[in-house]
Amino acid sequence: MAATISPAIRKQLSSMKVAVIGSGISGAVCASTLAKNGVSVTIFESGRGPGGRMSQRREISEDGKELMFDHGAPFFSVSNNNSDAMALVHDWESKGIVSEWKQVFGSFDFASNKFLSIQQEGDAKKYVGVPGMNSICKALCNESGVKSMFGSGIAKLEWLEEEIPWLLSDSKGENVGRFDGVVASDKSIVSPRFTQVTGRPPPLDLNLVTELASKLQHIPVLPCFALMLAFKEPLSSIPLKGLSFKNSEILSWAHCDSTKPGRSTDSERWILHSTPDYANSVIAKTGLQKLSNETLNKISEEMFKEFQCSGLVSSLPFFKKAHRWGSAFPATSIAVEERCLWDRSRNLAICGDFCVSPNVEGAILSGLAAASKLLQTSSCL
Ligand SMILES: Cc1cc2nc3c(=O)[nH]c(=O)nc-3n(C[C@H](O)[C@H](O)[C@H](O)COP(=O)(O)OP(=O)(O)OC[C@H]3O[C@@H](n4cnc5c(N)ncnc54)[C@H](O)[C@@H]3O)c2cc1C
Repeated sequence: MAATISPAIRKQLSSMKVAVIGSGISGAVCASTLAKNGVSVTIFESGRGPGGRMSQRREISEDGKELMFDHGAPFFSVSNNNSDAMALVHDWESKGIVSEWKQVFGSFDFASNKFLSIQQEGDAKKYVGVPGMNSICKALCNESGVKSMFGSGIAKLEWLEEEIPWLLSDSKGENVGRFDGVVASDKSIVSPRFTQVTGRPPPLDLNLVTELASKLQHIPVLPCFALMLAFKEPLSSIPLKGLSFKNSEILSWAHCDSTKPGRSTDSERWILHSTPDYANSVIAKTGLQKLSNETLNKISEEMFKEFQCSGLVSSLPFFKKAHRWGSAFPATSIAVEERCLWDRSRNLAICGDFCVSPNVEGAILSGLAAASKLLQTSSCL
C-alpha cells in the first residue's frame, strides 16, 4: 500500500493522528500499516506488554528457574489465498521474528487410549513468533511512527464536534490525548456484553454508532483454561508435539512449547487447553472475578489428572499453573465480508478476530482492513 501513495497524500496522512486501542495482533498490524503510510499512531494497551491473546508468560519455578510459556495462541496458519497476510508473514520471517514450527501433530482418543490421526503432508504450515508468540506484536509496536503506551487502559472514547474530534481518557479519568481517528481492536471496548467481565461500561457509547450497534450488542465468546507444565525430562511416550484430544470432557489440546524454534530446552514445557464446556462449568461456579490461588490450583489438579489418565505422562511436573482466558475465542464473526466495522463519519474502525474468524489469521486480516479504511478516507479528505 505504501508504494501506491503519492507524496501529496502522504503529507496529508502525516498530519493525521490515530489512536489504536489494543496491542493484540489486529491492533499491532493496523498500527504498523498506518505508520508505514505516514500516519502518526499511538497504541494504548491495558496490559503490561503487547500481544493480547498472542502473549508469552514468564514464570519462575520454586528453584528460581525462568520458564516461558506461550499460554495463548500456540501457533498460527495463513491460507495461501490471503496474499496480504501471507506477505506480512514472509516479511516477519525475513526479520527473524517468525519461524515455521516443523513438528508433527495429531490427535489422541481418550476412549480407546490411542493416537488416532497424524497430520498429513500438505497441511497448512504452522508459524510461531520467535522467541515468543508476542515477538510479532512487540516488533510492530516498536516500529518507527508507532508510539506505544502499555498499562494504559482506555475507559472512555468521547466524540467532540471539534477539529480534532476524539478525546480519550484512561481508567483514572485522565485525558490521554486527542485524535482524528480511532481503531478499537477489542470486543470489550465496543460491546456492552463485556461489562460483566471488565466491571465497567464499554468505553464507546453505542449511541454514537447507531448503525453498527446491533452487530456489537451480542458477541458470544468461548472461554478456555490453559495449564502450563514444566518437566525435567521429556515426555517420551508422546511421539507428537501438538495433539488434539477426542472424548475428553476436560482437555481439548496439548502442545510441547519447548520444541518451538528459539525456545529454551532446559526443561520440557507443555501447555494443555481445556474444553470450552469445562471452562464454562468452572465459570458458572466462580463467576468472572479474579480467581483465588486455591481455585486455580484445583483447576490445575483436575486438568493434570485428566492428562495423566491418557497414560501418556510418566513423571510429575516441577511447575504447574493454570490461567483463565475468559474470552478465548469469539463464537461468531460479525463482519466476514468487510473484515472490520467502519464508521466513516467518525473515522472509527472496529477490528479483531471477532470480525473475520476466531484465529490469528482472521485478526491480521481485520487489522489490515481497518488500516485500509482509515487510509482511504484520509487520502480523500
Ligand atoms: C488459549 C488460546 C488458544 C488459541 N489458539 C489459537 C491457534 O491455535 N491458532 C490461532 O490462529 N489462534 C488461536 N487463538 C486465537 C488467537 O489468539 C486470537 O484470534 C488473536 O490473537 C486475536 O487477536 P486480536 O488482536 O483480535 O485480539 P487480542 O489479542 O485479544 O487483542 C486485544 C487487545 O486489546 C487490549 N485491550 C482491551 N481493552 C482495552 C482497553 N480498554 N484499553 C486498552 N487496551 C485494551 C487487550 O489487553 C488485548 O491486548 C487462541 C487463543 C487462545 C486464548
